[in-house]
Amino acid sequence: MNQDVYVFDIGLRTRFRGITRRQGLVWQGPAGWTEWSPFLDYSGDELRPWLAAAVEAAEVGFPPAVRDRIPVNCTVPALDPEPARVLAAESGCTTAKIKVAEPGQSLAEDLARVEAVRDALGPDGHVRVDANGGWSLDEAILALRELSRFGIEYAEQPVASVEDLARLRRELVRRDISVPIAADESIRRSGDPERVAELHAADVAVLKVQPLGGVRRCLELADLLGLPVVVSSALETSVGLAAGVALAAALPELPYACGLNTRALLTDDLVTDSLIAVDGAIAVRPVEVDEAALERCAASVEDADLWSRRLAETRA
Ligand SMILES: [Mg+2]
Repeated sequence: MNQDVYVFDIGLRTRFRGITRRQGLVWQGPAGWTEWSPFLDYSGDELRPWLAAAVEAAEVGFPPAVRDRIPVNCTVPALDPEPARVLAAESGCTTAKIKVAEPGQSLAEDLARVEAVRDALGPDGHVRVDANGGWSLDEAILALRELSRFGIEYAEQPVASVEDLARLRRELVRRDISVPIAADESIRRSGDPERVAELHAADVAVLKVQPLGGVRRCLELADLLGLPVVVSSALETSVGLAAGVALAAALPELPYACGLNTRALLTDDLVTDSLIAVDGAIAVRPVEVDEAALERCAASVEDADLWSRRLAETRA
């Protein structure tokens, strides 16, 4: 591996997506530092957009910003009501994204958690839920009917397939249940993001820079989809988050808080001044990589070899 490519290995504060550590590569190109950190369950051709995104940040840089702060949501995992309430109340954010449809949990637990967070944020706060495709069509109709009494900003990927998203959207209208639908996994992992628009499957598009191939590709996609966009992270260090912030800063419209305040989920970072929200927003600014942090967060030799091979294979 090129000696100027650094492999990092940083712990997560709580288990997320089944992982407890976040690994990836960072390097500096003519336009700035970049991060390449595809999750380990991505492979083959799926890794190419992640690399295109990393190359854009290193070689070309980001398009001009049209705003200087990005409102962000806090993320509430599948917690009991009281810790969920405390987390939302202490976040400084007026929007919360709440995990629902967690395997092994009941709808009653989801309702109690959402009620607690709604209570913490008050009537002016925004509450959205993310099921990560965990409900069947019938379960989603039932759950969203119950959840709608708390005023739901939108439900993110309530069902897994794009066809079911479209069916669910029609069923909700038919039953007068007013919960907008956001597509996340249907955009970034389906291989055909535009199908969400073709089928009228969502009201909101969640875009993530690395899995979708870069800031400019996401701007194109936002335009093609014709939907309001929420920019979310792929759990990057602040080096990678800077690309998400650049996308959120460049979008012509940004009607919703973004899912970019995820630095707090990591135990360490690679920059001197992390991209963390203050009063519910992240300032749009460049980040400075900290040499000491690169050393402190360096991966083991075995993991560095694995990432080196992964990058070489993807480049080939
Ligand atoms: Mg999601």
